[in-house]
Amino acid sequence: MPSKHIELDYQYSVQCFPKRQDIVITGSNGSKLIDDSGNEYLDLFSGISVNNVGNNHPDVVKAIKNQVDRYMHVSNYYFNDVSPKLAEKMAHITPNNLTRTYFSNSGTEAVDGAVKLAKKHSSINNKSGHLLFSLEGSFHGRLSLTLGLTGQKKYRKLFDNYVYPGIIYGPAPYFYRDTENLDEIDFGKKCAENLDKLMSECNEGDISALIIEPIFGEGGIIVPPDNYIPLLQRICRSHDVLLIIDEVQTGIARTGKMFCCEHWNVTPDIMTFAKGIGGGLPIGGFITSDEIASSFEEGDHFSTFGSNPVSCASSLAVIDVVEKNNLSERSEKLGNHVIRRLNELSQKHSLIGDVRGKGLMIGIELVTDTVSKNPASQEALLLKNKMLSNGFLIGLGGIFGNVLRFQPPLTISMADLDFALDSFGNLLDDL
Ligand code: PLP
Repeated sequence: MPSKHIELDYQYSVQCFPKRQDIVITGSNGSKLIDDSGNEYLDLFSGISVNNVGNNHPDVVKAIKNQVDRYMHVSNYYFNDVSPKLAEKMAHITPNNLTRTYFSNSGTEAVDGAVKLAKKHSSINNKSGHLLFSLEGSFHGRLSLTLGLTGQKKYRKLFDNYVYPGIIYGPAPYFYRDTENLDEIDFGKKCAENLDKLMSECNEGDISALIIEPIFGEGGIIVPPDNYIPLLQRICRSHDVLLIIDEVQTGIARTGKMFCCEHWNVTPDIMTFAKGIGGGLPIGGFITSDEIASSFEEGDHFSTFGSNPVSCASSLAVIDVVEKNNLSERSEKLGNHVIRRLNELSQKHSLIGDVRGKGLMIGIELVTDTVSKNPASQEALLLKNKMLSNGFLIGLGGIFGNVLRFQPPLTISMADLDFALDSFGNLLDDL
């Protein structure tokens, strides 16, 4: 019997979301979620990598309540006394030179604003900047520009008359799917060189920016070879192209560093963020250097809800929780444990083709067999659904829809993690 909430949704909401699992969440407690029948689920996906400090963390709830009691919204026609504190904090927790922040309401808007700034930067430097570069397999959102930047045809199909033009895609640094048997570093070099070649074929000044995810999230937790992102930075500089790193999914300690680009000591020209920073409230944004920020002039960019004081108060509390509890280190430590255990399972089950990730951003790529590496997308969906029946929420993604995504709250207990991994192992045995 479907829940009345689901029936209402089917009757009154635009049915445009990806296929949803038939549960209605009505409560939560840290890394546990509760449905309308009182069943409890362990959250292994954090609402798509959002609840990094768990759902309703008491410090975050307190900060939100305090702010709601004071005031909730003023718009950007005035200043407020919360968002400047968050901007100051962002300058401290991001790599050197990133000093000035713009706050939006979502990841898509963060990316859109970052690209708008890059384009303005091109134009004031007398460059056309009408082209953008992105990567095949990437995900940057679903509005016109960000859908265009998203390097997966499955999202763009049937929207040809809607997606933003002038975007060129470099190859994905998807080492598991390399067909030439290169070692990882040579593969990273090859991908970077291909991108360099594509950029060289464009007229000077035509490209305003390259946008990359430091680890592909939706595309299947693709971790690039260690030389890849530093090489891309060098290539961008040689072509006078801005490097935008999209940390919407990887930021706020998710990968074992506050921001993922720190793994390779790369400071982007512009960095986007969203999801985890808000602790469950909508917020996104980008941060850049004084020099690039100065390309925007008064009136160039704006949004009614951007810099919303409640979202900013929540974000300040989230960052505080992350810092006080050393959640970056915790994410790295727990992530290593999970990867070790999944690698053990992969010895036993040829369905697991690859286990990869950093911190608690982990992908399990399922294949029909480890020689052909044919994507086992049906099995991935089956496992995701079986995990749900056993009380675990897990993500599914990947260019072929065959990558299970393990992105739990960074506050999850080791015992809960092990319990989930035991159950996952049992389900693999049953399959
Ligand atoms: N960029 C990346 C890397 C993402 O993973 C996402 C969402 O999954 C977005 C942008 C879009 O963010 P939002 O859904 O908040 O608009």
